[in-house]
Amino acid sequence: MLFKDFGLDTRLMRSLEHFGYDTPTQIQECAIPEAIAGRDLLASSKTGSGKTFAYLLPAINRVYQRKALSRRDPRVVVLVPTRELAKQVYGQLRTLLAGSRLTSALILGGENFNDQHKALQKDPHFVVGTPGRLTDHLEKRHLYLEGTELLILDEADRMLDLGFADSMRAINNAASHRQRQTLFFSATLDNTDVSVIAEELLREPSRVAVGHGTDQHQDISQHVFLCDHLDHKEALLKHLVSNAELKQGIVFTATKQDTVRLSELVTSWGYTSEALSGDLSQSARNSVMENFSRGKFQILVSTDIASRGLDIAAVSHVFNFDVPNPAEEFVHRTGRTGRAGFKGDAYTFVGPKDWYNFKAVEEFLKIQFTTEQVEGLEPSFKGLKAKKTGAKAANRKGQKAKPKKADNRQAKRKSSKTVVHDNRQDGFEPFKLPKKKLNPADNDES
Ligand code: AMP
Repeated sequence: MLFKDFGLDTRLMRSLEHFGYDTPTQIQECAIPEAIAGRDLLASSKTGSGKTFAYLLPAINRVYQRKALSRRDPRVVVLVPTRELAKQVYGQLRTLLAGSRLTSALILGGENFNDQHKALQKDPHFVVGTPGRLTDHLEKRHLYLEGTELLILDEADRMLDLGFADSMRAINNAASHRQRQTLFFSATLDNTDVSVIAEELLREPSRVAVGHGTDQHQDISQHVFLCDHLDHKEALLKHLVSNAELKQGIVFTATKQDTVRLSELVTSWGYTSEALSGDLSQSARNSVMENFSRGKFQILVSTDIASRGLDIAAVSHVFNFDVPNPAEEFVHRTGRTGRAGFKGDAYTFVGPKDWYNFKAVEEFLKIQFTTEQVEGLEPSFKGLKAKKTGAKAANRKGQKAKPKKADNRQAKRKSSKTVVHDNRQDGFEPFKLPKKKLNPADNDES
């Protein structure tokens, strides 16, 4: 099947030529005909599968071909969870609308409220935005959605994770009339919160599930390395970065502090690098993202803030310096590479503190990774035993759990609400880097 077979408006086909795509991706092939037919859509598709066009093309087609319900209200509202993804979507929308008389506005948290008010006063046909800020404008009556014909939710699962459920409902209620069509995209659909809100928002939707959200991405090779501690991870990172044919890479870390520290470390190895985290001001965040998108530096070190919405074909490598939690974040992080038909490599470092997160990722993806080793950097760590609580074990035997001596120690830890894993308990000697004295403070991965 080709794009021309969808019977899209000729103006839209002309702007699509700009991208040079003839053949729709799988999600586009399944979703576009349903959406053009005016049906509600409940779609699950993996990251990087082309889902943005799967909803933008039918949305623009509808605006070209059908009469507006209202002259003032936005005809199409696209809700996305993060600023970065919103910008990405908006960029593609603007390119598709170039040369037409159709207008659009981008409404994001963290940006000037008054400027957004002015943009909304111009009655744009399309609004792309994050739910929180859009709800703020709704409350201030800067926009009305009674005439909105198409409500699109991109990465609805992530919006729920970020606590936008109330905003999503408020927007839904503001645009709830019979003629409204809703396109609902989520990486996963087998999640109760997602099912509940989908039920509220959609009317007899067509279901499109292209691969499961957790399916392995064909273009991404996964590599997992067991690590003993922080220094081991750093030594591995240095080895892998210097041996990889790296165009651009992203190192994901769990903490904001680590982004700065690791970025400095990577710079000291002779690469250009910048750190990105929620600690930066909005304008600093924008400029880091923009510089990275333009290829001005090679290695971005980031928290999960960059795990969605960054669509850069040159990202050849992703490094999970820590294993993310929740598990689905793994799919989003690694999905920053292997985009638009390019091959990518994802490296995941699993230390003792990452172990249970790693097991959760395997469970989520329903696979078992094989681990790899680098000569001279072999780990002593071989994994931890499966978690068994006293209560569970006792339940199995049908008796009450008796606390053992070791359990008392665990109870103390639990009461302080900090789970500290003592590696020595698991009976392995940590990997030691040759000729380097460890600073005890460095030995903490967090
Ligand atoms: P998305 O999943 O929407 O973030 O898209 C991932 C990447 O695939 C983006 O770089 C898109 O521009 C690209 N893309 C979207 N549709 C197609 C297509 N039909 N053929 C090739 N690449 C595409």
